[in-house]
Amino acid sequence: MSDIKLASGNGMIDLDKISDQVPGQLAKLREPFPPEAISKLPKPFKKDSPKGNCKECGGYHGLPAAHLDYVGHAALTDRLLSVDPFWQWEPLAFDDQGLPRFDAAGGLWIKLTVCGVTRLGYGQAEYKAYMDLGSREKEVIGDALRNAGMRFGCALDLWHKGDLLPGSGHESTEYTPEQKVEFDALLASGDTIGMAAFMAGLRDDVQIALFNSFEKGLKSSGKAAARELTAQGTVKWKEIIEYLEELIAKDDPHGVLQVVEDMSHGNKIHLSKLLGEERSQKIGAMIRSVRTKTPLEN
Ligand SMILES: [Zn+2]
Repeated sequence: MSDIKLASGNGMIDLDKISDQVPGQLAKLREPFPPEAISKLPKPFKKDSPKGNCKECGGYHGLPAAHLDYVGHAALTDRLLSVDPFWQWEPLAFDDQGLPRFDAAGGLWIKLTVCGVTRLGYGQAEYKAYMDLGSREKEVIGDALRNAGMRFGCALDLWHKGDLLPGSGHESTEYTPEQKVEFDALLASGDTIGMAAFMAGLRDDVQIALFNSFEKGLKSSGKAAARELTAQGTVKWKEIIEYLEELIAKDDPHGVLQVVEDMSHGNKIHLSKLLGEERSQKIGAMIRSVRTKTPLEN
């Protein structure tokens, strides 16, 4: 980048000169956020929990719930601007119409560039009924920025305290609060395919830690129940894939739609992993042929 010059208010900035300062500038991203910049994201233990006024976050949502700390979009943008006024993000890929290309599960990969250093990030958001147009996409972008920001050490302490133990060169074997909430909710609802999909997305050591996460007195029965649910779900996933293959062979898009339509977001991600890119695209095309908009084709 030695020849690149940037215009500034009173002349040109030589990037060669600022490059020495980049590590120091980037280190500012790691500074802790003030409490007022940290928001509470409620995660009800069950999807159909009765809603109520929450004493912890002041919101109205399903109770009981755990709360995850996170840095909101405005606070993150403010931090990025304060470190590098020229920071920018762009999608990793574009579609035929020149728009950011979301993946089969509705997520988005982005490139975040701060002080000339680029790192990747991935964002996701739940599909919900009755969302404002475009609000899911904005949520995905915010999530991708937080994820890419985390690769620069931004709000890292909120992501996973266990990973930050001094001297631990490897990732910790602890699960995150969010993972524990989801694990408990899946177990409580007896959702076999959900549990199998959730487990398949975790590292082995995190799976084991979750299997051992029960309170005293419930350890062995809880572990057995969770293992059984996961095993049943794994069998069911095999059946789902076989059934989808039959539907592809018979060219039955309505049948495919029926299978995929009501799947949760996590299950759709797992499904596209099991299917692989080619079959996922095939299924996406089949759904597209009978419906104008579904999560898998986005
Ligand atoms: Zn709350």
